[in-house]
Amino acid sequence: MADQSELKFPAFPFKPYSIQIDFMTALYQSLDRGGISMLESPTGTGKTLSIICSALQWLIDRKQKQNSETSDQKPNSGHQSGSDDEPDWMKNFVADKEIQVKEKKEIKKKRQGIRSMKVDNLFNRRREDEGFCEEKDQKNVKDKMDGGELNDDEFLVEEYESEEEGGLGCGKSKRKAGGVSVSSSSEEEDDGFDEEDEEEAPLKIYFCSRTHSQLTQFIKELRKTVFASQLKVVCLGSRKNFCINEEVLKLGNSTRINERCLELQKRKKDDVSKMKNLGSGGRIRRTKASSGCPMLRKQNLQTQFRSEIYQEGALDIEDLVRLGSRIGTCPYYGSRSMVPAADLVVLPYQSLLSKSSRESLGLNLKNSIVIIDEAHNLADSLISMYDSKITLSQLERVHSQLGRYFERFRNLLGPCNRRYIQTLMVLTQAFLKFLHLENSTCYADSHNHLQGVSGAKSADDCSVAINEFLFSLNIDNINLVKLLRYIKESNIVHKVSGYGDKAAGLYNGSTVRDGVDESNDEGTSLSGFQALADMLISLTNNDGDGRIIISRRPTCSGQEGGYLKYVMLTGEKIFSEVIDQSHAIVLAGGTLQPIEETRERLFPWLTPDQLRFFSCSHIVPSESILPIAVSRGPSGQSFDFSYSFRSSPIMVEELGLLLSNLVSVIPEGIVVFFSSFDYEGQVYDAWKASGILARIAKRKHVFREPRKNTDMEVVLKEYKNAIDASSDGDLKADSAPQKGAVLLAVVGGKISEGINFSDGMGRCILMVGLPYPSPSDIELIERVKHIEGLGDPTSSKPPEFYECYSGDVKAGFGILRNCKRRGKEYYENLCMKAVNQSIGRAIRHINDYAAILLVDARYAADSSKRSFSHPTNKLPQWIKGRLVSKTDNYGEVHRLLHQFFKYNRERTRVK
Ligand code: SF4
Repeated sequence: MADQSELKFPAFPFKPYSIQIDFMTALYQSLDRGGISMLESPTGTGKTLSIICSALQWLIDRKQKQNSETSDQKPNSGHQSGSDDEPDWMKNFVADKEIQVKEKKEIKKKRQGIRSMKVDNLFNRRREDEGFCEEKDQKNVKDKMDGGELNDDEFLVEEYESEEEGGLGCGKSKRKAGGVSVSSSSEEEDDGFDEEDEEEAPLKIYFCSRTHSQLTQFIKELRKTVFASQLKVVCLGSRKNFCINEEVLKLGNSTRINERCLELQKRKKDDVSKMKNLGSGGRIRRTKASSGCPMLRKQNLQTQFRSEIYQEGALDIEDLVRLGSRIGTCPYYGSRSMVPAADLVVLPYQSLLSKSSRESLGLNLKNSIVIIDEAHNLADSLISMYDSKITLSQLERVHSQLGRYFERFRNLLGPCNRRYIQTLMVLTQAFLKFLHLENSTCYADSHNHLQGVSGAKSADDCSVAINEFLFSLNIDNINLVKLLRYIKESNIVHKVSGYGDKAAGLYNGSTVRDGVDESNDEGTSLSGFQALADMLISLTNNDGDGRIIISRRPTCSGQEGGYLKYVMLTGEKIFSEVIDQSHAIVLAGGTLQPIEETRERLFPWLTPDQLRFFSCSHIVPSESILPIAVSRGPSGQSFDFSYSFRSSPIMVEELGLLLSNLVSVIPEGIVVFFSSFDYEGQVYDAWKASGILARIAKRKHVFREPRKNTDMEVVLKEYKNAIDASSDGDLKADSAPQKGAVLLAVVGGKISEGINFSDGMGRCILMVGLPYPSPSDIELIERVKHIEGLGDPTSSKPPEFYECYSGDVKAGFGILRNCKRRGKEYYENLCMKAVNQSIGRAIRHINDYAAILLVDARYAADSSKRSFSHPTNKLPQWIKGRLVSKTDNYGEVHRLLHQFFKYNRERTRVK
């Protein structure tokens, strides 16, 4: 590798700043060394471009080195194959061919579904991309409906033999392999869409981020460099993003789009099978041109799609969709097929971090580089991918369909099928019984095993460990692994749901199209079975890996609601699969602190000194940032936005007074962050009633973050227009009544997570209080309890206070108060990560400037007396170092702001 002291990054399109060189050098060295690194670079410092120019330079250098090593070795390689008399080119050819054949076999083996029979491999889980039916024989219900009447043969599940009945070692369908058990991969194989899959996979970099817009931004930056044309780049996304079949796309919902797409692939498969059967004289008629989706009919168009991408260089999702539409071929399958040959794969978190998604997409992480951007909440994002949930209405539907099916086919089913179907009915019945219990009845009273566990006599929500849950329902004797294998292999789900949908359609005289009941928000019958299968998989996890949440809350419309949810608590095992395979993993982000929490939750086996952490300072000069802890309002009232005081009329009014003063000193745009939509609404209404809102609106237009994302664009456009209309931002009170705008936003909402407010759009970010998450969130409290117990070998059993929580705010606070260690720290970190995300929306480039006001007395402290746990210690270094942590009164804040804006206005005018 290159001499580290001489690392250069020629692809950087501008002259890099020294912090950018530092960042690129740190990243390059991390990739060289391998292992895990965390690299922090504040927003607005060119982090993405630095990642591209360093990581891809490393890739090219590494490939060159590998090539030169290979060419050095080849003449003397003395490969075992072939005789010594054979010329080198023949030896190399044979060797390459052998590797190809070996890999081809491996790929094929994988595709045929010969996987480990570990339970978590039985299904593709939590797939946005891959529907449940991908692993199944998804019979097209519409086709079946064409006859107009129920046909027993179509829905009768084939005989199934289990260990007991057939002595086969494990449950097994009598159907021949490949007859109906179809994976998406094998479907592609039939289509011939996988030619490139069989090429030798080059060393590659996987870059993932959270949202599609972040991935689009990445591609945009990549195009500024030579790498866009030098390397093979492919961008992956979901079917919902890529689909160009209008008929499928109009289903709107990801699950339905997935299901429909896979049905279409299956139809093609069935068509091919039929054609085979029709072949006469022993000649098999087979075609690759047949496809249920017109966008996959012509394979040559897929080839054209790939070759145009290679010619055009890096394309983002929108480009790929445009290209696919122009050519008339599916961009989803087109981009997927390019993965094996790609140097750089750009994809969302979910696709890389979920094992089932990796397998579906055929991602091979072996010796690769994985860069995870926006990794500030990685541990929570990761574990949430392994949650599962089934609602009361889904359970009722699944249970009734199973019952109806059993009634209809009871006498035709073999003993094994009968037993497994009955087992499924017992399970769903038990789940339903649990959820149907009256709210006034504690389930602990009805289930002896759980006595004392809930501790909440009138709880709507409660949580329980897996084993306790199974014991309490008397289902602990069911072999879930075998049951899951039966579900996977027998095709029972499609038979039951297909029969159920058709029967319901005939009975109601309504149109049930392909198993899709448009009136049901919770999707198709298949979605219900998918949810059940996911829940059963979750129940096979280790007892301490997660908790079952039982919610019996009514729905908004007052109907009986409720759900069972498995909440995964540990991410370490999941992440270790990524770590084990990759050469290097880089977690990048604007603010990655606290890194210790991430280490403990995702890779606790690494000692702190084994984890490389690099943090660079901000690109902007210190005089461009003014962070102030504002502890008092204009009338001298101390600010306290804690849960108990934040709604008090005094606090709300003082905040209004503060803002009505600030609008006269801060130019252009001010973004105010509240802890929740409810609180923002409360404050807004109070200001409106008291006339404070009118005072603020005299100086600046007031906008509010909409709850619906679809309304966001309009609001942001109007906000921008209002600011643009205010000349140069001078605030001459008398001459210009309204200058700029105020945007009331919410922490955790769309604005705080992903909208950037550069220049005039965000001259000030005002954070109201400390946005701690609500302790009434039962999942949060479960995570807190789990993390509190991490790394404590003495606690085989959780402390008593752990066991008495039911979603009650007071009880939640009680649990938090009792946490002394990591749990408390985690809760505080959640709050400060949200603060950092929100205040990081401003200051996006070197000439930008903004004030950051942290409004609450709890932010204020004499810096010399600030304890380690003080919230401001969790601010990013570039803000912490410049924080004015103590002001005597509002007048001082006003004066500092006045000076700051005057200075920066003049400074930027001179430039
Ligand atoms: S094959 Fe492609 S275009 Fe056709 S339905 Fe599936 S995702 Fe849509």
